Amino acid sequence: MLLSLLLSLVSGCEKTAVPYVKTSFALDTVVQVTVYDKKDEAAALKALDYCRTAEKTFSMTDPESELYRLNASSGMPVQVSDELYALLENCLNFSELSDGAFDITLGALSSVYAFSGSVHRIPDEQERAGLLSRAGADKISLGAENAVFASSGTVIDLGAAAKGYIADRMKELLISEDVRHAIINLGGNVLSIGGKPAGKASVPFEAGIAVPVPGRSNEVLLTVSLTDDSLVTSGTYQRYFEQDGIRYHHILDPKTGLPAENGLASVSVCCRQSESADILSTACFVLGEEKSAELIAKLDFPVEVIFVNDQLEITRIHN
Ligand code: AMP
Ligand code: MG
Repeated sequence: MLLSLLLSLVSGCEKTAVPYVKTSFALDTVVQVTVYDKKDEAAALKALDYCRTAEKTFSMTDPESELYRLNASSGMPVQVSDELYALLENCLNFSELSDGAFDITLGALSSVYAFSGSVHRIPDEQERAGLLSRAGADKISLGAENAVFASSGTVIDLGAAAKGYIADRMKELLISEDVRHAIINLGGNVLSIGGKPAGKASVPFEAGIAVPVPGRSNEVLLTVSLTDDSLVTSGTYQRYFEQDGIRYHHILDPKTGLPAENGLASVSVCCRQSESADILSTACFVLGEEKSAELIAKLDFPVEVIFVNDQLEITRIHN
């Protein structure tokens, strides 16, 4: 979908830049590395290998993952890897900055909806209240020496942040292998290394933001120029199911336990770090335009947020 769209945009016309592309399936999505300036494919293969390894850290559903073990800890402290600890720490930080709109403890609730599964259920108000009482950043505490304490019954879901974290590590890995011009695409979560070579110089990569409508998401609504930046989109068209004519999408409002409803169809965030872009696209989707502006004003790095509403009207804000 967005993947092929983006690649057609970035690989099509430059005579001087003939990239090679390595594709794999991981993180429940298509993962692709496109390298422009190195003929040796080993770097891209290493980055894809890392991506598959990282799944064993951050997956909520894989019984062999580190996160799964943390979620099964029944309230006992668990010592986790530096990677998991670092991501949890940043997520909790954004939870606070977003006034709880970004919340990695909604795992029990999102598992009931089962957006990625085949059997969906909509929890009623009473069940939602019960599930929400097990959520909230205060249910997790981080201690010395990578110790993590998660309350019994609290299920951590890093689905809104892990792809960004992993993309940043893949970028570091590629750079350490001397790659200077590349695109990492984790199912539409895009991160660039440098720009696209054009003769002796380079030009920005152009990444597409999809029309956020089911069945039309292979159409480009607008493009964003990226040089060393990431572009991540959260949208109602990405994971959802329909029941009784209502679309239930996967971005949940922690206040209600229901899919966030504020007239938005997608929110894209462009900034240097893919981890931040991933977290912020989810957070800003829940917050809506006004409160998102307050959130990004608090950040000490440049961010652009692109809102697309149900009428496909576009609003762009930056800090
Ligand atoms: P994204 O596609 O990055 O916006 O992430 C959405 C995924 O994050 C969902 O499929 C859930 O697993 C999880 N999620 C849903 N709502 C929230 C929220 N308010 N804060 C953090 N994670 C969420
Ligand atoms: Mg996200």
